[in-house]
Amino acid sequence: MRSLKHVPHRLRAPLRPVASAARALPATTTTTTTSSAPIMTHAACSSGTTVVNPITSLLIANRGEIALRIARTAAAMGIRTTTLYTDVDAGSQHAKCSPHALALGPPSAYLDGPRIVALAKQHGIQALHPGYGFLSENPTFAKACEDAGIVFVGPPARAMAEMGDKARSKEIMTAAGVPCVPGYHGPEQTLAQLQARAADIKYPVLLKSVKGGGGKGMRIVKTAGEFEAQLKSARAEARASFGEGGEVMLVEKYIERPRHVEVQVFADRYGNCVALGERDCSVQRRHQKILEESPAPLLDDATRKDLWDKAKTAALAVGYVGAGTVEFILDKDTGDFFFMEMNTRLQVEHPVSEMVTGTDLVEWQFRVAAGERLPLTQDEIEERILERGAAIEARIYAENPAKGFFPDSGKLVHLATPAISDDIRIDAGFVEGDTVSEAYDGMIAKLIVRGKDRETAIRRMELALHEYEVVGLSTNIEFLKRLCRSPAFIAGDVETGFIDKWRDELLCPQPATNEMFAQAALGLLAAEINAASPQPLGLPQPPHGQTLGFGEARSQAERKFAFSVDDVSNSNEAVEEASKTVEVSVTQMGTSLFSVSVSSAESETPQVFENIVCETAVSSPTKTTLTTFFPLARVESTLVRDPTRDDKLTLFQLGHKTELHLVAPGWFEQAQGLKEAAASVVAPMPCKILRNEVSEGQEVVKGAPLVVIESMKMETVIRSPQNGVIKKLAHKEGDICKAGTVLVLFKEEEHSDSST
Ligand code: ADP
Ligand code: ADP
Ligand code: MG
Repeated sequence: MRSLKHVPHRLRAPLRPVASAARALPATTTTTTTSSAPIMTHAACSSGTTVVNPITSLLIANRGEIALRIARTAAAMGIRTTTLYTDVDAGSQHAKCSPHALALGPPSAYLDGPRIVALAKQHGIQALHPGYGFLSENPTFAKACEDAGIVFVGPPARAMAEMGDKARSKEIMTAAGVPCVPGYHGPEQTLAQLQARAADIKYPVLLKSVKGGGGKGMRIVKTAGEFEAQLKSARAEARASFGEGGEVMLVEKYIERPRHVEVQVFADRYGNCVALGERDCSVQRRHQKILEESPAPLLDDATRKDLWDKAKTAALAVGYVGAGTVEFILDKDTGDFFFMEMNTRLQVEHPVSEMVTGTDLVEWQFRVAAGERLPLTQDEIEERILERGAAIEARIYAENPAKGFFPDSGKLVHLATPAISDDIRIDAGFVEGDTVSEAYDGMIAKLIVRGKDRETAIRRMELALHEYEVVGLSTNIEFLKRLCRSPAFIAGDVETGFIDKWRDELLCPQPATNEMFAQAALGLLAAEINAASPQPLGLPQPPHGQTLGFGEARSQAERKFAFSVDDVSNSNEAVEEASKTVEVSVTQMGTSLFSVSVSSAESETPQVFENIVCETAVSSPTKTTLTTFFPLARVESTLVRDPTRDDKLTLFQLGHKTELHLVAPGWFEQAQGLKEAAASVVAPMPCKILRNEVSEGQEVVKGAPLVVIESMKMETVIRSPQNGVIKKLAHKEGDICKAGTVLVLFKEEEHSDSST
């Protein structure tokens, strides 16, 4: 049934290998010893012999970019791979990347451990890589693999179980002399008991699920008064995300100005353990990382080495084998650091460490799982870090930073990505035309950049982000560009509250320039002309579609367009901003020669660009690229029209993305008597209704909670945008809604003119 004819062939360009560790790998019989391994509990520690049983076939039990990333190394090592896909993922890149792909069915089936083990057995697959998320930290699953004789590419089930419980791991760490955050992590779980513990610890405290991960099931409690509500909410989220047992909470002292610094560790079966440097992951939203870097900025060498040593101690204390991350929280006010948790898997941000150490950690995983010793010593790793400088990863998410980083989903209508090189790497799970499903995490890609030092890496990151173009869903790309320019970030003054602290600077909207409106109008005109008179047959076609000199000036008639800038935020100011219309008039003066006039309500006189040269290429019915010589500069732009909504335009220009609406000119709207009343609240994203907080006929004030929704396992409260009276609640508890569905209708306000 299974064909061995094909070698993996769909590995995509963005997934080119990083500088491989293969060159540096010593012969498998070499004995590598590391110095600072104070505790050795693993059975094989004292063994002097190395038994190697290479991995030759692999089941990748994950999806998206991580499945592709694992497949890439497996292919390079000559390992035959099989991937898994659910119905929604049938057309995904990871399902296509391997010679064998097996169907799982419903979206949640990636979590179906018994079924996945059975498939591996049935198809005679030797080893299984769980990636991150899903089954990667599930000791029962790791044990089931072990029992079925399948090599689990990860730590032993026992080490995973001990570290997987946030409470148990803290006991072990305390016993091993690794400092932990002051807190309570015992069995007392009633409200009164936990509240008493919180009072002992002293507010503010942090509630965390013992099963936590990905920042879920975690709540800050500032005062005793809000304890009960926060406990309830944390428990509900944790149960939804982690199931049975998720509601067991620990209480920790909340550190007010923390940095998140973690150490990448790697251990082999022979008791050797190394640290592959540390990563600072302090730039977070909702306790989830969005930017990670190595080395951690503004960290003295003594602390750095102390962190590495404590991390290795932590790993060895549980007999760890394979790749793991020991997370610490660093108190900026005292300089103290504490063990937070150990992630017993490869992490999302592992490429940062690969870039800065010149290694391929997935290759290390396969080698260690096969029984080899660690490829590099601690000294060799340190040498490499000194040579290689700094690396940063930015997670590109389908989300809307201006709307509280709300997750988004949808089709990638247009996607252009930065050019990759030895120092610019993209790990992605999607290509243009793919759909980012709301069924899974909204990470579209990871962009990883290296520079000789941190400043260079940040600048290169910003430039690479300028090359990113995404249309079809909201992303955090513009936000990440801002971050790269933030003086506080450049200074390395990071903490987990960084985004909140610099919110205004990071989120203030970027005003659209007159050149942008001019380009949008020229682009639309080019598309219109192209559609009206397609290039005659027989003429050579340029490689990227037609070049339109716009031909002869067909007539001196002017063409008018009106635009509004897309409403990027929830605030009322922005809504007003959005309603400001800009009118652009274009007149063709000769071949590729135009005069463009841009007028808006704010400026008294229109800005006129006379006789500007503009060349365009219409590459598809929805995409036009333009090069225009404005009086002071040459400007290149890409204009993309949403194929499903004719009035939605996206313009990429000088590294910025601007979303525009093509609107009917003012006079037209007036003639039609159209005026949209803000009399409803719509679902900002695909979601499930958890509960309505108001009832029909109720009077509410602006900011009052209306509906609580759940999307991507996250609860969100939809608040009232205005004072008013509820006319209708469109949905009941449990309903599933698409983005844009009306949730609440307000009674229309009486018009003041009718009340006189
Ligand atoms: P890190 O690895 O840096 O700790 P997170 O904790 O943010 O990063 O990411 C791990 C989490 O990511 C998982 O618990 C899971 O919820 C989520 N996740 C993201 N992408 C995927 C994916 N492709 N497959 C499975 N889980 C994923
Ligand atoms: P997860 O398993 O979800 O990754 P962690 O325990 O690793 O949970 O915490 C995630 C993030 O929450 C950290 O990176 C940090 O920003 C924040 N955090 C965790 N513990 C504390 C604490 N005691 N005080 C302040 N912030 C904390
Ligand atoms: Mg964590």
